[in-house]
Amino acid sequence: MVQTNGIRPTTEATLELLYNISRELTSALDLHMVLRRVLFLSMQSVGAISGSIIVLDSYGKPIDSAIITGDVVHDQTTQQLRITYEQGLAGWVAQHRQAVLIADTSRDERWLFRPDDAPERRGAKSAVSAPLMVRDELVGVMTLVHPRPGFFQSEHLSLVQSIADQAGIAILNARLYDESQRRARVMAALASSAAAITGSLDLKEVLQRILEQTGRALMVDTVSLALLDPKRQELVFEASTGRFSEKVVGIRLKIGQGIAGWVAQHGEGTVVNNVSQDERFFRGVDQITGFKTRAIACAPIRWGNEVIGILEALNPYGRVFDEDALDVLNGIASLAGTAIRHAQLFEALQAAHQRYRELFQDSIDAIFITDWEGHIVEANHQAEQVTHLRSEALREQAIHSLSLVDENMLGKGWVNLQQGETVSYETSLQTSDGLILPVHVYARKVAIEGESYVQWIVHDITERKNLETLRNDLISMIYHDLRSPLANVVSSLDVLENILPLENEPALKSLLNIAIRSTERIQRLTNSLLDLRRLEAGQPINNPQPQSVEEIIADSIDAVQAAADSKHQVIETKLAALLPAVLADGEMVRRVLINLLENAIKYTPQGSRIGVGAQPAGEMVEFWVQDRGPGIPPSEQERIFDKFTRLHSAEGQHGFGLGLAYCRLAVEAHGGRIWVESQPNQGSCFRFTLPMTSNGQAEDANQKVLE
Ligand code: ADP
Repeated sequence: MVQTNGIRPTTEATLELLYNISRELTSALDLHMVLRRVLFLSMQSVGAISGSIIVLDSYGKPIDSAIITGDVVHDQTTQQLRITYEQGLAGWVAQHRQAVLIADTSRDERWLFRPDDAPERRGAKSAVSAPLMVRDELVGVMTLVHPRPGFFQSEHLSLVQSIADQAGIAILNARLYDESQRRARVMAALASSAAAITGSLDLKEVLQRILEQTGRALMVDTVSLALLDPKRQELVFEASTGRFSEKVVGIRLKIGQGIAGWVAQHGEGTVVNNVSQDERFFRGVDQITGFKTRAIACAPIRWGNEVIGILEALNPYGRVFDEDALDVLNGIASLAGTAIRHAQLFEALQAAHQRYRELFQDSIDAIFITDWEGHIVEANHQAEQVTHLRSEALREQAIHSLSLVDENMLGKGWVNLQQGETVSYETSLQTSDGLILPVHVYARKVAIEGESYVQWIVHDITERKNLETLRNDLISMIYHDLRSPLANVVSSLDVLENILPLENEPALKSLLNIAIRSTERIQRLTNSLLDLRRLEAGQPINNPQPQSVEEIIADSIDAVQAAADSKHQVIETKLAALLPAVLADGEMVRRVLINLLENAIKYTPQGSRIGVGAQPAGEMVEFWVQDRGPGIPPSEQERIFDKFTRLHSAEGQHGFGLGLAYCRLAVEAHGGRIWVESQPNQGSCFRFTLPMTSNGQAEDANQKVLE
């Protein structure tokens, strides 16, 4: 080294010095090391007693520093030098990018006396300060000091300037290297955290791993994680490590409350190294847990654009969080967002799966899942019960072996199912041990885990079948047991009507009339029951003849007039002027109309009107019966024509739900149609059509001419 001490160095010596400095500097990459060497070499070269270097980042912010006084190296001085940089000589040099020589610091206002300087250090000194430049970029400022004013000369200044030029590159390199090292450390911490955090799908485990990784990466014992309760807009602490973890879990913070609440609200992380000086800090949590928070690093946990929680680390071992802490925490928190959401979704999926399984297993219907060849791949408890086979045994069977397949309904190659229809039909399930069970099958295509299968829901209808048989037996019993005695009553009444002298006996006549009407009614009922069975069996109507519509309507009104009178109801008839005859079994059609009229009377309130009429409609004649009853909701308008359907019974009269079923069978057997038009509380209008006689129009017209 060249000893300068005020002695002017030769050009050769200066060059040698610079060469040595540049060689020394470029051999190191660690920023701290480089700073110290630069400082030492520079101090030695100009004979300074103390010196400092401030390193700036690319935004001009002080990020590192070194101070040497005599032989003592001071680290962690950046904060102290920041003030000098902002207000003192270094700041001036940085701003003007110009080297400065101050012969007497006490006479130069650019020299800042720091309040923390020791008294002996406050005296006059001499100083040189030079910017460390790399091309146009300022990378730092070096200041060298000697306690004797006037010690430094302009030669020192130019030497320091030359060294600074060399040192700039070395410092920039070291800074970049340091930065890349730091990035690498952050990346390494995140990579190992990522592997650990995403290695589980169990939510509890995931939370635990996040806490562990955060603790390790930020060197803290206490890490807590809170998730957002979106309904109440609160953070709920879900997991925590450290001595007070049990007390932390379950604590709620409003969004915006405390540092965690602030982070959730603003969606940005923060590091607070001294919470007592931060007004966002909320003491409430410490009061509950008994923990004493000193420093907090907290980052938002996101899923997509939404903040779903926060992750916070407290009280680092090194008292303050280092500058990477927020980067690392942000990185872990963003991994946490994905891992937590995945675990939550997985849990939800499993719960849904479990619910589906329970529904499947607990269904009161037997359910089979088969492939498209019919091989059973899954069967529930009820399927085991009805087939008397364990599900393992069922899985070796095909659905055909239970005789559940109806090719007519399913179509060739089950094409109807393939097209997405639900195909339903009745059949009998036959088990291998010979059991036969009447069932209703609902088959449809389902997708399970991306594969297409067939689901067969098999509903046991034994009870319904038994009931139907019982009803049919009852009907046939009523019919058979009533028919012959009834025929006897009818013929006896006929005889009585003929032989009794009734002209002067109005009371007797009226009594006999009641008896005749009532028996007629019972006869109509039994005949309708008989027809019902016949028509259901698909038998055609007997010998249809041309029938006068007016007569049918008049006869039917006659049959129900007494009932309408008893309720003070008026039956109004509206017939089209020209009404062709219909081709029908007159007796049957009369019973249809009487049925509709009886219902109208039954459901229409006392004293109201009932309308009945007929009009031509294309090739048909349309009959109608209008009432002022409670009406029939649209959803029931089809169903009421089914057997045994009863919606409401009027005034305690309970029907069997057979009347309209008979009407439909009878009308349809004639090639006609029956329907109802109604809105609740607006009355109902029942309509049915019957075919005209083929020359109906002509026949009727002739008749009118003859009259
Ligand atoms: P029921 O013998 O029970 O009257 P029906 O087949 O004649 O059997 O009628 C079936 C059901 O349809 C009845 O229970 C009733 O609820 C409803 N219904 C039939 N006619 C009318 C009507 N005119 N107004 C309202 N509801 C009616």
